[in-house]
Amino acid sequence: MDYFPIFIDIRKKPCLLVGGGEVASRKANLLLNAGADLIVVAPKLAPPLQKLWETGTIRYLARPFLDTDVTADLSLIIAATPHSAVNNQVVNRAKALNIPINVVDHPSDCSFIVPSILDRYPVTVAVSTGGASPVLARLIRARLESLIPAAYGRLADICTKYREQVKAKFRNTETRRRFWERILQGGVADRVFSGHMQDAEKVLEQSLAAADNSLEMGEVYLVGAGPGDPDLLTFRALRLMQQADVVVYDRLVAPAILDLTRRDAKRIYAGKERQHHVMRQEDINSLLTKLARAGHRVVRLKGGDPFIFGRGGEEIETLAAEGVPFQVVPGITAASGCAAYAGIPLTHRDYAQSVTFVTGHLKDGTINLNWTQLSQPQQTVVFYMGLVGLAVIRHNLITNGVPTTMPVALVQQGTTPSQKVITGTLGNIMDAVALDPPQPPTLFIVGEVVTLRDRLAWFEPSSQSQRCVVAEMRNELL
Ligand code: SAH
Repeated sequence: MDYFPIFIDIRKKPCLLVGGGEVASRKANLLLNAGADLIVVAPKLAPPLQKLWETGTIRYLARPFLDTDVTADLSLIIAATPHSAVNNQVVNRAKALNIPINVVDHPSDCSFIVPSILDRYPVTVAVSTGGASPVLARLIRARLESLIPAAYGRLADICTKYREQVKAKFRNTETRRRFWERILQGGVADRVFSGHMQDAEKVLEQSLAAADNSLEMGEVYLVGAGPGDPDLLTFRALRLMQQADVVVYDRLVAPAILDLTRRDAKRIYAGKERQHHVMRQEDINSLLTKLARAGHRVVRLKGGDPFIFGRGGEEIETLAAEGVPFQVVPGITAASGCAAYAGIPLTHRDYAQSVTFVTGHLKDGTINLNWTQLSQPQQTVVFYMGLVGLAVIRHNLITNGVPTTMPVALVQQGTTPSQKVITGTLGNIMDAVALDPPQPPTLFIVGEVVTLRDRLAWFEPSSQSQRCVVAEMRNELL
């Protein structure tokens, strides 16, 4: 962040506006909306400012700017003249007295910048691009305008009206927060949006009277976070991630995805690197139960899909046995994500009529699979956790009749900026891997479909970082 966003109280405080043209008029309106005691200094005034002066809304000094106009009691200053010499003079004086100064369209001279503002009084949304592009800020504001109905202001009024009453009823901040979340997302909000204010207040009062003050049981959301690219999250995953106050996550969950959880949520790392389990599975299971019992809404974030080699089933078995409510949100599993981003369709009418997902890492450390079945033609086999066992997998497939010319692909960190795809054949893949050892996690794809990559590869990992920014932006807009 280049600028720290704050909202300043300038009600009845003297603020100085240097300049009397169109731009200055717009700034004057903003300052007046926030209740400023506005002093304008300019040789001439544009009609809107003239009107404000005539109605006694502003104070006006009808002359060029003088250093003595900047006095220590000013809350802030905006210089909006087309003359850089005058603007510079204002900046120097303001900085000498440590008064916040903004020069319109000159971010380098400013000690604060004015955001693009969405006004849903008392709700105010300020958008800034750090001075990079006021036009982009305005476009974002326009998007927000369509997302945030004008009635949000009325919703905020209800919050103000009942705030003390709700506070008195719920002394526990967590229960209080939950009550408000229910109100602001449920029937009360619906009524406010449809203009039925009295009805809305009645429902709120009923809910308040009926609410149980004891800390209710929380809930666990078992959420599939997909293979890495935050853009591949589902809407439901994102919504629950932003609702949960505790996040329990695995190593496979990308930092960019973790950043989309609520900022004030507590994050607990549950680990699970090969051989370096930070927490044992049983401990994770009982942690989830304990957290939900303490009233938390816990998002259990897992890489890919929670029900595909994710031990998600075991975790919710414990929850179900303990009577803890839970929801499961599917995610894009590594095989789908990696195959799509590598340009390898997992099935194809000419090459593969079925696809099998197998784990190359079994409970007891062996790879004891049905090799006869996995070696049949006309199918695609995807090995998860396959890198360590690659030599064994290769050996077993060849022994069971798969030709050494069979195309294969090893996808490293698929869908992320570090995605790398090594292609070859069952015969030569070990050499290719030795030449350029991939970083985990990797996925091993075996089948004729791999040859399609030559024509269908589309994803360029280097452009991914930009896409992440877009994903974050979109998330802010949701
Ligand atoms: N539940 C997860 C799988 C967990 S098992 C899912 O549905 O995807 C962990 C294995 O998944 C890794 O060892 C690796 O084989 C695979 N994997 C997960 N994310 C991956 C990625 N971005 N790129 C390549 N392989 C990945």
